[in-house]
Amino acid sequence: MIECVFTLDYEIYGDGQGDLRRHVYEPAEKLREVFLKHGARFVNFVEAAEFERLEETRSDTAIDLVTAQIRSLHETGFETGLHLHPQWYNATYRDGRWVLDDREYNLCTLPRARIEEIVDRALRYLRRVVGDPGFTPLSFRAGNWLFQPTQPAASVLAERGLRLDSSVFKGGVLSGRGIDYRPAARSGPYWPFQADVSRADPNGALVEVPIHVRMVRPWKMPTPKRLALATAGPRSRRSWRARLARLRDLARPWLPQKLDFCRMTFDELVSAIDGVVREDREDPTFFRPLVAIGHTKDLADALAVDRFLEYLAFRSIPVSTFSAVVPRLAPLPTTLS
Ligand SMILES: [Zn+2]
Repeated sequence: MIECVFTLDYEIYGDGQGDLRRHVYEPAEKLREVFLKHGARFVNFVEAAEFERLEETRSDTAIDLVTAQIRSLHETGFETGLHLHPQWYNATYRDGRWVLDDREYNLCTLPRARIEEIVDRALRYLRRVVGDPGFTPLSFRAGNWLFQPTQPAASVLAERGLRLDSSVFKGGVLSGRGIDYRPAARSGPYWPFQADVSRADPNGALVEVPIHVRMVRPWKMPTPKRLALATAGPRSRRSWRARLARLRDLARPWLPQKLDFCRMTFDELVSAIDGVVREDREDPTFFRPLVAIGHTKDLADALAVDRFLEYLAFRSIPVSTFSAVVPRLAPLPTTLS
């Protein structure tokens, strides 16, 4: 049985340049409208670090619209998840530009005490914005999908009550950042993990529900140049090395293409899930939560999302959130033969 979980990375990704109203608020409003029309909800992965800093500096006055929107989405049943780009906490704002702290680009490489400080600060921010001091998000997505080395970050999140991560994309390699999610290709649609997010471990306190991908030829992907630029991170002395590493990662015969509801056309979205629909017909008893990803900044065509939701209803595929999915995850095994 398939259920689709739409996750929205709610942020201005990249180097911090962008207009909050145009790149966050307006596309999220369009998506809210489309989802409500279908009686559906998405998981709103709010990037806590960036919005807190934008609020402090008032560098974009639309920040108040954004925080009000986070709260109202939360209050109307859209699930609030924690998304973190820690390089924002030490960022400086000069002459109308943000300079992010590349030393804190990957939360997982920081000392445990610093990870705790960052996670606690992000949770305090979310609680204030949603107006609920007792709120703890259920789910986490790491900035730039960087969730290796997985410990101690996973323990810090689990100790604070988070239950689920959705950072992995099977087959993913970001060698410039030390990320290798290829071992996850052997796992099922979800798995508990402990030492490494890409390997199932029944003793894990968190469960991984990865972003759905299909393996495609490189020419089916967005251009390597665009990807290399988008994932290399902010300008820094390391960035040419990061870009070279990224180009090397992309020089593989098959690459993982994420199920991206903000970038893909309607036809691409449909063909991306058709394989899973076929597998599911053969074994409908197996529970397959299917995670789609989108970024507010990328929303090209809200009508394509509208049509895709209609298509899912036609296929009798429910649209869910993690809070609805988690209680129904079987403990183990989740490895497909
Ligand atoms: Zn992000």
